[in-house]
Amino acid sequence: MQATNPIWTEVQQLLQKNLSKPSFETWIRPAKFNCFENGLLTLIAPNNFSSDWLRKNYCETIEKAAEEICGHNVKVIFKSEANIDSSSNTQVNLNEENNISRIRSNKNSKDNSLTNRSKNSNCLNLRYDFKRFVVGPNSRLAHAAALAVAESPGREFNPLFICGGVGLGKTHLMQAIGHYRVEIDPEAKVRYVSTETFTNDVISGIRRDGMTAIRDKYRNVDLILIDDIQFLEGKEYTQEEFFHTFNALHESGSQIVIASDRPPNQLSGIQERLISRFSMGMTADVQPPDLETRMAILQKKAEQERTNLPRDLIQFIAGRFTSNIRELEGAFTRAVAFASITGLPMTVQSIAPMLDPNSVGVVVTPKQVIKKVSDFFNVSTDELISSSRRKPVSQARQIGMYLMRHGTDLSLPRIGDEFGGKDHTTVMYAIEQVEKKLSSDPNIASQVQRIRDLLQIDSRKKL
Ligand code: ADP
Ligand code: MG
Repeated sequence: MQATNPIWTEVQQLLQKNLSKPSFETWIRPAKFNCFENGLLTLIAPNNFSSDWLRKNYCETIEKAAEEICGHNVKVIFKSEANIDSSSNTQVNLNEENNISRIRSNKNSKDNSLTNRSKNSNCLNLRYDFKRFVVGPNSRLAHAAALAVAESPGREFNPLFICGGVGLGKTHLMQAIGHYRVEIDPEAKVRYVSTETFTNDVISGIRRDGMTAIRDKYRNVDLILIDDIQFLEGKEYTQEEFFHTFNALHESGSQIVIASDRPPNQLSGIQERLISRFSMGMTADVQPPDLETRMAILQKKAEQERTNLPRDLIQFIAGRFTSNIRELEGAFTRAVAFASITGLPMTVQSIAPMLDPNSVGVVVTPKQVIKKVSDFFNVSTDELISSSRRKPVSQARQIGMYLMRHGTDLSLPRIGDEFGGKDHTTVMYAIEQVEKKLSSDPNIASQVQRIRDLLQIDSRKKL
């Protein structure tokens, strides 16, 4: 199989001028030339989904472009790489350089979409567009499906149900659909809503007898993006209302996009009739990204922030944060902040201890911990080591004990001593409390992280 051919290259160049960037990059660029005989041009799409979409939506466009180039009638047929060689299915071509240059933003289209967006208040985050989304084997299908519904809403993939674990890009993808829809059709009424907001609206609608306004808000749209639908679990009345909203939208040909942390059949506590509607269109999942994709995401992020990250540092961070893109981005941001505050170079050696999720990285003294924690929470050192049970003080004290445990080699009784002679069981309890909160309370997790970073910075400065 040949990947390039002068005719296909010329046809692609012509199409690139005539199609929007995301459409071109998603459908046309990945299609490979197979053969051109007797006016029959055969192209290979990366998967069945793309070949079907090309056949249904781009056949004529490609034929016309090919006719213009060749000067005679051309027929085009599409095959899927998956059908040609089943082993190639897993080796989806993820050429990073390509991938990155592909999504590099085009100034004109950006300006355009910004103007359009300002006309359309739809609760979309400007950062979450297709240009900033890095496509890897883990998200290729979901990305193609997302683009398909943005291009042709309300058709066969209605609803589009995007599912996958936390921090894997579901919200980003669904908002990208919204942005792109408005870019294509500035008049389109697009609404993004979390299930939580929808639930709150329904509850306040019932209370204030204002269901008509709520219905108007949610039913009078062309495209609805409803996020984290798993939160409908167990909410009977909201489910009832959502069921009718869904039907009204579906019947009027509006596109519905739903995101969930699980596929429809694994949602429990949701009415069967809703589950069956969720499965009516297309379900596409996002998986955790592989190493190459994680590196491409970091590279892209570095380009956006105009930061120069050496390749071995990118590889190091990508190798460390494997299952959640939000955490991967967080590690990147901390590394950049750390380097800029300390003035240390952006190298694996200087950044690595900073990114170790389990330790402060370098040993600090108990005094440093106490000082940093009291400064951070604006509690005096005396109060911090006192027996005060005031919530802000006791919380700061628990965090202090936790950080001392991880940043020094003191035993539990010695930590107790540093905190004004507390018993070692008190210290143990404090550490357990903080550990629990780290996974359940993002606020505490971020405070602990910030103090850790500050301690890091102090100790690195002295090196
Ligand atoms: P989810 O909704 O699945 O929990 P999000 O869409 O909120 O995840 O993604 C978490 C973060 O990771 C966001 O900042 C998002 O921009 C980023 N992200 C996720 N997937 C990608 C991707 N494929 N390319 C670039 N950034 C991504
Ligand atoms: Mg989300």
